[in-house]
Amino acid sequence: MTYDSSNIFAKILRGEIPCHKVYEDSDAICFMDVMPQGPGHALIVPKAPSRNMLDADPAVLAKLLPLIQKITKASKAAFGADGITVMQFNEPAGGQTVFHLHYHVIPRFDGVPLKSHSGKMEDPAILAANAEKLRAALA
Ligand code: 5GP
Repeated sequence: MTYDSSNIFAKILRGEIPCHKVYEDSDAICFMDVMPQGPGHALIVPKAPSRNMLDADPAVLAKLLPLIQKITKASKAAFGADGITVMQFNEPAGGQTVFHLHYHVIPRFDGVPLKSHSGKMEDPAILAANAEKLRAALA
């Protein structure tokens, strides 16, 4: 399978469609998932094109993990979470639905199960408020 630059995250990276942005540097962007599996569900997307981990440049992955850790820690503080789930899916059989590499960072609370994957669209006002909380925790 090859990378297709018409995917939704490539469009977000090109600024063709909006997102609730939390963080951006020269290598990656972080924004809120529009169908969160829990409050504060964020996505971390490297700018370099690859479908997923299977075709990613190891140098891209090496730069990404420290950012994933930074956002994981900020997320726990921002949302007062008991824990954080970090997820990443590869190819349809692995649960992937958007074919540009990304990592999910989801605040978790004791006894609260994850909502379904790509489930219900969140209210934009809630996404904006959660993006602001995460941005503040990163500052
Ligand atoms: P995957 O299944 O590929 O690991 O996850 C894709 C994620 O992207 C899903 O959690 C889904 O809710 C989210 N998503 C799909 N379309 C959009 C979009 O247009 N904007 C944002 N911010 N998230 C999206």
